[in-house]
Amino acid sequence: MSAGFDIANPTEEHRMLRDMVRNFVLEEVEPQALEHDRLERFNSDLFRKLGALGLHGITIDEAYGGVGMDATAVAIVNEELSYSDPGFCLAYLAHAQLMVNNLAFNGSEDQKARILPFVCSGQWIGCMGMSEPGYGTDVLGMSTSAIRQGDGSWLLNGRKMWITNGVIDDGDTPADVCMVYAKTGEDANGRSQITTFIVERGMEGYSVGQKIVDKLGMRASNTAELVFDDVRVPVENVVGLPGDSMIHMMRNLEIERIALAAMAVGISRRCLSIMNRYASDREAFGRRIREFGQIQRHIAESWAEYRAMRAYVYDTALRTRLSESGNRLDSDGVKLYSTTAAKNIADRAIQVLGGYGYVGEYVVERLWRDSKLLEIGGGTLESHQKNIARDLGRDSSPING
Ligand SMILES: Cc1cc2nc3c(=O)[nH]c(=O)nc-3n(C[C@H](O)[C@H](O)[C@H](O)COP(=O)(O)OP(=O)(O)OC[C@H]3O[C@@H](n4cnc5c(N)ncnc54)[C@H](O)[C@@H]3O)c2cc1C
Repeated sequence: MSAGFDIANPTEEHRMLRDMVRNFVLEEVEPQALEHDRLERFNSDLFRKLGALGLHGITIDEAYGGVGMDATAVAIVNEELSYSDPGFCLAYLAHAQLMVNNLAFNGSEDQKARILPFVCSGQWIGCMGMSEPGYGTDVLGMSTSAIRQGDGSWLLNGRKMWITNGVIDDGDTPADVCMVYAKTGEDANGRSQITTFIVERGMEGYSVGQKIVDKLGMRASNTAELVFDDVRVPVENVVGLPGDSMIHMMRNLEIERIALAAMAVGISRRCLSIMNRYASDREAFGRRIREFGQIQRHIAESWAEYRAMRAYVYDTALRTRLSESGNRLDSDGVKLYSTTAAKNIADRAIQVLGGYGYVGEYVVERLWRDSKLLEIGGGTLESHQKNIARDLGRDSSPING
């Protein structure tokens, strides 16, 4: 490949970050990935080590214990972790992007000073609760609500479903800290007003409803239903102004979608490299299978799709400012394109490996199962299609821009 500007490593700092995570993955993540998938077990010890590497605070100011990097750095970390263990990566993403980054860009100085050092170090494990048993895509329909009390505190009630890191062990210990979205009123047009509450472990009424087991993929991450039963949230744990959290949610969804798309890049790169090597090693009818046209098609289409998603993901990351929102078109676009492409590439990898591709030891079956979640979590494919068509309907200038 020719030298020059590499969009996935735009600076020396990014390149060094990638090398550091890649080495860590090789030495520490890869050896445990198969076992934790089999056992459906979250590796909390390994997770905490990411704090020592600065990865939990990747986008957080140094003043609060982070390393102050950008959306490209977020994409790099998620890509590299997912090359080996997307389930483990999902737990990382739910903590570092959905909770830590969310608080850093929306919280008050006091909240940041009090909480960020603990979550950046990995001492506390965080999560974000948006989805509910009855409301996913239709998020503004949420039924979790909070009512202000006479002393200024809020009484929070409701249930959040599918929460990654909602439970942090094999028992029923909930996340140390959870950013919870709740309805706190309606505007003049009857539209829900949403407020973010910081719920901390130990608050009465905050508990795990159920640990969700037997998932198709992402089995190295914990998923839970969380229950908020008359949780009294003090005023200092309200993020921003009451009713103002739509913007928090939208801004955080953009970096979440870029991170999930970057996970797809990691899955695709691994599957491509496995199928490419196998096609040289395996012989059938006295020839290497890479000499068969149908196998060539699997490899060639995967290469082109991988290169396209890599360029689109890192171009979008490069143009994303974490403190702003407004790039929904491309954060939806990268996730829409990359996730299905990753699933197809993993599928082709299984096909190229034949029977070997169907068993855990050869990795690609796990990546195929994990890739499916990317078409659902952080917004379904259908929600991206809806958003993109709506945004281009309002303003078509990006098409020719
Ligand atoms: C492993 C896992 C981890 C997760 N982690 C988290 C987390 O940490 N925090 C969190 O808040 N959530 C999390 N989620 C939830 C995830 O974001 C939701 O599952 C997702 O948003 C879809 O919501 P739903 O499951 O309720 O499906 P629904 O919204 O009920 O959708 C069902 C189907 O209907 C389609 N549909 C719905 N509305 C429309 C429409 N208007 N037009 C066309 N089609 C439509 C959907 O696309 C989908 O195909 C996680 C989910 C999983 C499985």
